[in-house]
Amino acid sequence: MSGEDAPRRPAPRKLAVDSPYLHRLQRRHFLLFDVAPIFGVVAALAFLPVHPIGITEVALLIGGWAATGLAITVGYHRLFTHRTFRAAPSVQVVLAVLGSMAGQGGVLSWVAIHRRHHENADRDGDPHSPNLSGGGFRGRARGLLHSHFLWMRRHEYPNIVHYAPDLLKNRLLLRVSRYYHWWVALGMAIPAVIGGLVYQSWTGAVSGLLWGGLVRMFVLEHIIWAINSFLHMFGTMPYRARGNSRNGGVFALLSFGESWHNNHHAFPDSPSFGLQWYRLDPGYWLICLLAAAGLARDVEVPSRDRLEARRRRPAADAATP
Ligand SMILES: [Zn+2]
Ligand SMILES: [Zn+2]
Repeated sequence: MSGEDAPRRPAPRKLAVDSPYLHRLQRRHFLLFDVAPIFGVVAALAFLPVHPIGITEVALLIGGWAATGLAITVGYHRLFTHRTFRAAPSVQVVLAVLGSMAGQGGVLSWVAIHRRHHENADRDGDPHSPNLSGGGFRGRARGLLHSHFLWMRRHEYPNIVHYAPDLLKNRLLLRVSRYYHWWVALGMAIPAVIGGLVYQSWTGAVSGLLWGGLVRMFVLEHIIWAINSFLHMFGTMPYRARGNSRNGGVFALLSFGESWHNNHHAFPDSPSFGLQWYRLDPGYWLICLLAAAGLARDVEVPSRDRLEARRRRPAADAATP
């Protein structure tokens, strides 16, 4: 058979794509949702002499941070990315909308990028490893900055068809994802309206927008990004898992349980990241609440045997030839 007659093999599916158009979108997203909140924090502090904050701003900041943070860990991460439990459609929509308000990308992109992170943890292809930028102090510092947020300026975009085919079949999620920018805007508008109504003034609206919108986004972003950066470099490593993921128990409450990151890499199918009742994990508590209310099911944590089988025993591991 000549070369021309031979049946053509389909080209192998690309796992990630790069294009100037995608990079333009990434740069715009980075400036709008990652850099602007930094200026938002500066503006909020500068605005204090004009409008001192009260209980309203504190409530908007903490309430908005908890709502969007829980939606990221429970919705974006544990439900949509890792399918660690099943949830009613209404719960899926609420979690996807609140998660979008965090400004960390539409749910499909977030899921695809995060699945690629697990697949290639701390190796080529990991979108945000702190461990691939060289050794020494400079290399480690560069790696930390890259993994914390500079990677988002421009990066390979994972192929959604490959990494998130299940989500492409979920019409509800597709619809929510399509309006991502509007959800982010709504997440800014709600605290602005509440601030305006409570204080009956435009300065109240601006104060609400700054503290409940931009500062809230800034605080949550840096907590979630710290999982990608610091917890792939520093912390404890009780379980064997691909890559260099670590646990940072002191941040458990602040991160809604996300900081049990080594546990999570070792058992990505577990709805609980703490794995033990005494390891604080607010994300898992919310899943248990949803299950008790009949809104979530198939909530299964790894058995004790599975946990033990994956436990690292540095002395024994080192003795193994
Ligand atoms: Zn994950
Ligand atoms: Zn990780």
